[in-house]
Amino acid sequence: MNLQSPITMGGRPLKMFSTRLEKLEIFTFEDFLLHLPSRYEDFSLISKIGRLQAGETVTIKGKVQESKNQYLRGNRIKTIQKAVLSDETGSIELTWFNQPFIVKAIPVGSDISVSGKVELSKKGLSISSPDYEIIFNEKSDSLHTGRLVPIYPETKGISSKWLRRQIHNILVQYGANIKDYLPVEVIKRNNFLDLHDALQEVHFPKSLVSATNARNRIAFDELFLLQLASIKKRSDWKIKKKGHKFEITKYQKKIDNLISSLPFILTDSQQIAVNEILTNLSTDQPMNRLLQGDVGSGKTVVGAIAMYLAYLNGFQSVLMAPTEILAEQHFETIKNLLEPIGVRVKIVTGSKKLTDEFDILIGTHAILNEKVLFSKLGLVIIDEQQRFGVNQRGIIRDKGENPHLLTMTATPIPRTVALTMYGNLDLSYLKELPKNRKLIKTWLVPPVKRDPGYLWIKKEIIENKSQAFIICPFIEESESMQTIKAAAKEYEKLSKDIFPDLKLGLLHGKLKGKEKNEILNKFRSGDFDILVSTPVVEVGIDIPNATIIMIEAAERFGLAQLHQLRGRVGRGDKQSYCLLFTDNPNSLHSPRLKGMETLYSGAELAELDLKLRGPGNLYGIAQHGVPKLKAASFSDTHTLHIAKREADKIFSELNKHILLSEKIENTAYSHVSPD
Ligand code: ADP
Ligand code: MG
Repeated sequence: MNLQSPITMGGRPLKMFSTRLEKLEIFTFEDFLLHLPSRYEDFSLISKIGRLQAGETVTIKGKVQESKNQYLRGNRIKTIQKAVLSDETGSIELTWFNQPFIVKAIPVGSDISVSGKVELSKKGLSISSPDYEIIFNEKSDSLHTGRLVPIYPETKGISSKWLRRQIHNILVQYGANIKDYLPVEVIKRNNFLDLHDALQEVHFPKSLVSATNARNRIAFDELFLLQLASIKKRSDWKIKKKGHKFEITKYQKKIDNLISSLPFILTDSQQIAVNEILTNLSTDQPMNRLLQGDVGSGKTVVGAIAMYLAYLNGFQSVLMAPTEILAEQHFETIKNLLEPIGVRVKIVTGSKKLTDEFDILIGTHAILNEKVLFSKLGLVIIDEQQRFGVNQRGIIRDKGENPHLLTMTATPIPRTVALTMYGNLDLSYLKELPKNRKLIKTWLVPPVKRDPGYLWIKKEIIENKSQAFIICPFIEESESMQTIKAAAKEYEKLSKDIFPDLKLGLLHGKLKGKEKNEILNKFRSGDFDILVSTPVVEVGIDIPNATIIMIEAAERFGLAQLHQLRGRVGRGDKQSYCLLFTDNPNSLHSPRLKGMETLYSGAELAELDLKLRGPGNLYGIAQHGVPKLKAASFSDTHTLHIAKREADKIFSELNKHILLSEKIENTAYSHVSPD
C-alpha cells in the first residue's frame, strides 16, 4: 500500500463516504493526511471534577453514574440526553440535545473523558454538549478530549470527530510508509520536522508551537515542490524545443515606421515589453512570455507589433480571444493597423468561417475546431489567457512547430506568485497606463439617488456628447434566459420611461455573433447613446468615446469583475465615470464597493481583496490554473523566498534525490503551463 492509493477500509473501498469525501477533495490516504485542521480546540487543561469552576474549558475523566434519554415536545429539541459523571472528588451533569445514541455510547459504569465549557445553573455546575470519548485503558491515545483537538473543514456527514479517527488510524497503520522526500540538507538548513513528525504534529500536536512548526514544514513543501516543478519545466523547454528564429535588424526600420504611424506614443512599459518580446523572437528558442497589464494599459498593440514582425519574417500568427465580441474588435483594430501595409488579416469565430489565406488569423476558440491549415505558424498570442484551458492553449500551439507564445492578461498576479507558479514563463509588465488617462470617478449610488443619477447621465450624454454603458444585474453564473429577460425588461423601461429622447441598444450573450457585432458597431459609431448590456462586455471591449458605465446590483460582482467592467470606460482622454448602483442598503457600507470609490488599479484592488477574503482566494487568479494551497499561502513571502532559494539550490542535482524526483513526476502540476 502506498499513500497515493485510493481509500479503503478493511480492504474495501470506502464507498459510503467517497462522495462526501470528494467534496473535501479527499481521494487518497495522502489527501486525508493533508486535510489540515483549520484550528485546534484547547482541551488540554485536565481537572478534577471537585475543582471545576464556571467558565473554564476543561477535560474531566470519570465514571458514568447515570445516562438517560428524555423526550420533549419542542420543535427543534426533541430529545435531551443527560448523564452524571463522577470521580473521587465530585460529580457533574452532562447534557446533549437530539443525540439519543449517546446514551448507548456511554452506558452507566463506563470510564469516559469529556471536554467542554463548564456552566453554572441553579442546579449547580454542568457541561452542555461536551465532546466525549471512552477510556479503554490508561495508555490509549485520546483524540477528542484532554489535548489540543484538531477541528477540520467539514461537510455534511463528515464531522471533525470522524476525520480525527480516520487520520489517526492512517497515521498508526501507515505512518511507517511515509518517506521523507525532502533532501536531508534542506531539512537541516531550515530546522524542519521530518515529514512523518510534521504530519503527526499538525493533526495531533503536543503544543501550539509544535503545530505551527509542523504546518510550516508542510507549507514549505507545497511551495518548494511547485517551484521545483516550474524550474524543471522551464529547463525541459529550453533543452528540447527548437523554434523559429526571426530576423529583426533587417526589419527594424519597418517596425519603427509602424510604431510611429500609431495615433499615440508607446508608453515606456509598452516599449520595454516590445523590446523584451523582440529579443525572444530573435532566438531559436520558442518564446513563452506572459504580458501582464492592467485593464486599458494597451496590450493589444504590443501583440500587434510582434505579429507584424512574424509577418515580415514570412510567418503566420494567430491571436485568440475568449469571446466573439473581443475577437471582432481585435480584428478591426489589427486590420486597420496592418492591412494598409500589406498584411492579410482574417477572422474565424463561431459565426465566421475562414475562406482565404491569411498572414494573421484572429478568432475565438472556434479556431481550434476549424480545419484551418496553418502553412507556417510562427507566433501564437492568447488574449485574456485565464479564460482558456491549458488544453486549448496546447491545441493551438500544436498547429505549428514550436511557435512562439505570448499570453496576455489583466489579472494582477503578484510577482511572487507568478514566479512560483509560472517559473517557466518570462514576464513583461505594463506598469503604467497611457499618459492621457484620467482616473475614473467612481460613486456608489444609493436608491434615493437613482433618479438624479439618471438625470445626470442624460445631461452628460447630451452636453458632452458622451456615451454610456448600463450593465444589468448578473442573475446567474452564466448568461441564463433569466438574465437576458431581466436585461430586455430593463432595456424597455429605460427606453420608454427614463431616456425617451436618447437612442438605446441592447446587447446580450445569446444574440448571434453578427447581431452582436452590428450592435457594438452602432454603439461605436455613435448611433446609440446608451448600450444596455448583460455583463458580457466584461472583458476587453474598447470604445474610447464611452465615458460612463453604470452597473446595476453592483454588490453581486466580485472586485476583479467590477474592475474589468469599469475598465470599459476611461479608455480615451475624456473624464470618465463609474456609477455603482445598489438597492441593498447593507451594500452601501460594503468595504468592497467602498474600495471601488478610492482604488483604481487592479493591483490595489487585489490587495483589498486579499484583506477581505483571505489568501485562499487570490483576486481573479482562480482561473489561471493556480492550485488551491493547503497549508501555504501566496501572501507568505517569507516561505516563498525560502522555497525559491532551496529549489534553485537543489535543482542542479535533482537526479541525486530519487524520492524528490519521483514526487515531482507523480504530482500533476497542470498550472506550470503552457507547454
Ligand atoms: P488592454 O490592455 O486592456 O487590452 P487595449 O489594448 O485594448 O487595452 O488598449 C486600450 C486603449 O488604449 C485602446 O483604445 C488603444 O488604442 C489605446 N492605447 C494603447 N496604447 C496607447 C498609448 N501608448 N497611448 C494612448 N492610447 C493607447
Ligand atoms: Mg485587451
